[in-house]
Amino acid sequence: MTIPVHKYDVVIVGAGGAGLRAALQVSEAGLKTAVLSKVFPTRSHTVAAQGGVAASLGNVTEDNWHWHMYDTVKGSDWLGDQDAIEFMVKKANEVVVELEHFGMPFDRLDSGKIYQRPFGGHSQNYGEKPVNRSCAAADRTGHAMLHAMYQRNVKANTQFFVEWMALDLIRDEDGDVLGVTAMEMETGEVHIFHAKATIFATGGAGRIYYSSTNAFINTGDGVGMAARAGIPLEDMEFWQFHPTGVAGAGVLITEGVRGEGGILRNASGERFMERYAPNLKDLASRDVVSRSMVTEINEGRGCGPDKDHVLLDITHLSPETIMKRLPGIREISIQFAGVDPIKAPIPVVPTCHYQMGGIPTNYKGQVIVPKGDEKSVPVGGFYAAGECACASVHGANRLGTNSLLDLLVFGKSSGESVVEDLKGNPRAHKPLPANAADVSLARIARLDNQKNGESVHEVRLAMQRTMQKHAGVFRFNDLLKAGVEEIKKVAERAKTTEIKDKSKVWNTARTEALELDNLIEVAKATMISAEARKESRGAHVRDDALDTAETPAGRDDKNWLKHTLWYSEGNRLDYKPVNLQPMSADVESIALAKRTY
Ligand SMILES: Cc1cc2nc3c(=O)[nH]c(=O)nc-3n(C[C@H](O)[C@H](O)[C@H](O)COP(=O)(O)OP(=O)(O)OC[C@H]3O[C@@H](n4cnc5c(N)ncnc54)[C@H](O)[C@@H]3O)c2cc1C
Repeated sequence: MTIPVHKYDVVIVGAGGAGLRAALQVSEAGLKTAVLSKVFPTRSHTVAAQGGVAASLGNVTEDNWHWHMYDTVKGSDWLGDQDAIEFMVKKANEVVVELEHFGMPFDRLDSGKIYQRPFGGHSQNYGEKPVNRSCAAADRTGHAMLHAMYQRNVKANTQFFVEWMALDLIRDEDGDVLGVTAMEMETGEVHIFHAKATIFATGGAGRIYYSSTNAFINTGDGVGMAARAGIPLEDMEFWQFHPTGVAGAGVLITEGVRGEGGILRNASGERFMERYAPNLKDLASRDVVSRSMVTEINEGRGCGPDKDHVLLDITHLSPETIMKRLPGIREISIQFAGVDPIKAPIPVVPTCHYQMGGIPTNYKGQVIVPKGDEKSVPVGGFYAAGECACASVHGANRLGTNSLLDLLVFGKSSGESVVEDLKGNPRAHKPLPANAADVSLARIARLDNQKNGESVHEVRLAMQRTMQKHAGVFRFNDLLKAGVEEIKKVAERAKTTEIKDKSKVWNTARTEALELDNLIEVAKATMISAEARKESRGAHVRDDALDTAETPAGRDDKNWLKHTLWYSEGNRLDYKPVNLQPMSADVESIALAKRTY
């Protein structure tokens, strides 16, 4: 069988915020660029981003990048690399203004400047009080962002392969990346995309959990492909649970609601966050708010007949503010919770939202792996940006609106690195290995020939329930230990799933089966990395990590101030140091401290 080969300078997998920003950079530089996406670009999960994108423009309240850097390092519970964080917060104003020039319709102040709202963990003067840092287009910021960048890419001649699913990474014997195999979803045919540079921008994998704010397509494909190709995954134990998913539905209610003045209340109507975070209250960082909510629920102060959620109250805001600043939220809460937030509070629970870990990269977007004695050696021809990557700017906990910023900054910088490499060192394509498509063809053949297997749905559900129970908002030593065994069993079951419909044309069952392979890699990485990390940090909080003078709130800097690296092969773990050194010599490192809000 001959497999069609498409040759490009650059292949980008993913057309969300990160993929589109990277594509723009390389296409505008004249490189021949293909962007593959499972869905039409503007349907990528970035479209669902509501609240905003962080930049210290200081349009509403005084602000500067030093404060943003401090907030981000503290938000990460010191696990973020300070060189990458400095790079990101310093670039923020540039990439946001650039986006505005691309045509992004930001909300405006009367002065004509970009509107900015407060968000959790973002502060003035090193934690003193909330700051207005999140640039917003009502509560549809991601939607506006994707449309602006998609149109710009059309102008730049980026070639889109829409409804194409990348299956596996192609590496040669030097370990260099030469592109991907991909399935055209309409025909079920496998093709090869042969590239000088490959950028992964495949987004998150929130679908490993049972309750998630993530789109159904967020199945961690890039992360799974990288893991299968021998690339380690970094810090996968850290998952963000967003405090305000609609109870029972999982749909997100943006933190922008609290930015606009929304208050969380328990069954007796108490504003309980005053007890947990006296300074920033409802605008403390997400991990802190989520744990406070679960504590209220666990201690019997939850709302509703089953006392299983709390309430998000904005009834004190004027209907005009709600209609102008939060129109989408009002619609969501009427549709999914059956309440009009102008009149009654919205029932909410913490819901899986964001993966802090991913494919290890530096701030240039190059994928980096350990080699010999070196911990961070770039993989030839391989780049990653956005939620699938771990730069690492979010460390153990991401601040709200820092992700859209991450997409812009690292989408752009990965594109810049590719341009620098390919223009600075013009060369022909490296030859494809003879077996370039073998892994993908074998996966598909396995599905075609499988008999007496379980359904994909059953195995996926088992995975999601295992993750929810064993690696949730709070983590327990015995549950994690059992979780490792459970998830390994589920992974075995995933090897023999069966699809009844073997047809090729638009076979969504086959797509879901192939996605499950990726979800399983992510789930294993998460559980195994989490079980191994014997401390509490950011979103990873264990019952057996005690609050002592040496280990404040269970955080153990002496033993655990390091990044996890998980290898799929043999579920092997390795570690590498956190970079506490900022990028510039004249910028001071943010010193380790106990994290309080
Ligand atoms: C409901 C919600 C609200 C959010 N609100 C905010 C917010 O207000 N501010 C903020 O900063 N962050 C927010 N976030 C987080 C942020 O939106 C995401 O982290 C970010 O949009 C991810 O962007 P991305 O470009 O990395 O991936 P995505 O936008 O998820 O795009 C992934 C792309 O990869 C493609 N893809 C995936 N697998 C394959 C494959 N195998 N083959 C081909 N293509 C593939 C998809 O088709 C898609 O085009 C929110 C997240 C959610 C879920």
